[in-house]
Amino acid sequence: MNDPTSLRERNLDRLDGGSFDVLIVGGGINGAVAAAVLSGRGARVALIDRGDFAAFTSQASSNLVWGGFKYLENYELLLVRKLCMSRNRLIRAYPDNIKVVGFYAALDESGPYAPWFAGLGAAAYWAIGGFKTPRPRVLSAEHIEAEEPVVNTDEVRGGIEYFDAYLKDNDARFVFSFIRSAMDVGAAAANYLELTSATRVDGRWEAQLEDRDGERSLSLNADIIINAAGPFVDGLNRSWGTTTDHRIVYSKGIHLVVPRITDNERVLAFYDDTERLFYVIPMGRRSVIGTTDTRVDTAYSEVTDEDRAFLLAQINDRLDLDSPLTPSDVIAERCGVRPLVVKSSGSSQKDVDWTKLSRKHEIEVDPDQSVVTVFGGKLTDCLNVGEEIAEAVSDLGLALEPDTGTWFGEPAKATRDAFFRRARLMKLDSLRVKPDIEPLSERLWRRYGRRAFDMLDAIEADVSMGQDILENADYLRVELYVAARTEMITNLEDFLRRRSKIDLVVPDSEIRSSDGLREVAEILFGDRAEEKLNEYFAIPALS
Ligand SMILES: Cc1cc2nc3c(=O)[nH]c(=O)nc-3n(C[C@H](O)[C@H](O)[C@H](O)COP(=O)(O)OP(=O)(O)OC[C@H]3O[C@@H](n4cnc5c(N)ncnc54)[C@H](O)[C@@H]3O)c2cc1C
Repeated sequence: MNDPTSLRERNLDRLDGGSFDVLIVGGGINGAVAAAVLSGRGARVALIDRGDFAAFTSQASSNLVWGGFKYLENYELLLVRKLCMSRNRLIRAYPDNIKVVGFYAALDESGPYAPWFAGLGAAAYWAIGGFKTPRPRVLSAEHIEAEEPVVNTDEVRGGIEYFDAYLKDNDARFVFSFIRSAMDVGAAAANYLELTSATRVDGRWEAQLEDRDGERSLSLNADIIINAAGPFVDGLNRSWGTTTDHRIVYSKGIHLVVPRITDNERVLAFYDDTERLFYVIPMGRRSVIGTTDTRVDTAYSEVTDEDRAFLLAQINDRLDLDSPLTPSDVIAERCGVRPLVVKSSGSSQKDVDWTKLSRKHEIEVDPDQSVVTVFGGKLTDCLNVGEEIAEAVSDLGLALEPDTGTWFGEPAKATRDAFFRRARLMKLDSLRVKPDIEPLSERLWRRYGRRAFDMLDAIEADVSMGQDILENADYLRVELYVAARTEMITNLEDFLRRRSKIDLVVPDSEIRSSDGLREVAEILFGDRAEEKLNEYFAIPALS
């Protein structure tokens, strides 16, 4: 039986029979920022996702916070400017979570651009971004050989280094941080809660919901629906009769997580055989190779043998490794579809020039039905999306409090300083002295912000709270206790794959045989630990 005092059950109780200003359908990045900005500005917000939060597209990104250098190829100057500005704001607001990183691009003989020309592009990109990142560089082949010996320079003419940013933890955790802050200021949110139908009754929405982790049916009322269902927005709009000027088409992208390729904390960039840029992106002790861009007809996608072989062949051709990477080196895989926006009228998906499709988002308002639909979008654009959604609901007549900009970002510097002072006084970082791992204080602060203060209390009271709970996973026992109370973890995979990145960086076989896994399940699920462990083991492991 579910624990009636758990965060999720309490939220289900608030949702059931509740009356809200706004119902947000979808807990990916777009739904999450909508919840954060609207509840931060005083609206009564309900947020639901039929899976875990961020368990669809928003867990499959490249984790990059970037202005889209490659979109300059399509002369999308306005989009690049907007994304760069959004990137700059995010870097300022999340100094511990979003890190500036060099993109080190090696250009070979068959590539589309000479290094000097790419250098001009990088300089233009730097200027479009308001010179807020370090100055780009043009590199000779010798330079690359000396600085990144892992790059095979046999065919390389030279290269460039320009700068963007990346999420140090993962995309899904970043998304959850918005949902957590929305709940902190009063939003009612639940994962594994599906909207099954919504109808207009006396000028308001009546929504029927199904609990996918229990047997419960719920209903609630709301003035406005925000359709933030990502790849599924069109189907939802059709279900309640909203027509829109835009619709979604799908582009599949995959990533492979492999042992760390370069010790330098930078992204390696290459053109693949189809002249498309792909990257090697740092993720802790691992590297992530990706991505691809394949048009598909369905939102449900998986990594095929062909995708994997293509990406491995591309990277092996461009690196000087002792032995080439093979499928057995792949620790984890990520796969998703980008929801891209096209006009509803005119050409069918088949006629669209794929490579030229813009990555910009659209927000449409249906004033008759009080529906706001978010088409497309990027993690990088999330603050703009949030602000535009707030404007859209204001246009629909919802009175919001002024935007003080407090609905996003890490806590103030003074709070951060107080945390690190206290951590220093109790010698927190000496608890763990693995040489290749970042100090505990930095890790806890980045992951939990203000909630990390409670962890210091708990570790001070009981030293076992400061011990690792799963081998090689970099998770303390105290983190599990705090996560169990505050992060609405409903299945083991929610914790392993999305609140943490354990499932991405530790091989499945190691997780499954880990001594600590049972304790993790007991802390997270209490009486339901056995059931949740069985469900987890029923998911096929990556062999
Ligand atoms: C391969 C790849 C790489 C990318 N790389 C980057 C990058 O590096 N940087 C960047 O900024 N962006 C990147 N993106 C883009 C970015 O990830 C997406 O645009 C973004 O995650 C989309 O978020 P969303 O909220 O619209 O959709 P989603 O994350 O898919 O969320 C929609 C949610 O709606 C829920 N839902 C649907 N129907 C219902 C229902 N009936 N009831 C309840 N819930 C429902 C779903 O379960 C889902 O969780 C990448 C995308 C891909 C695929």
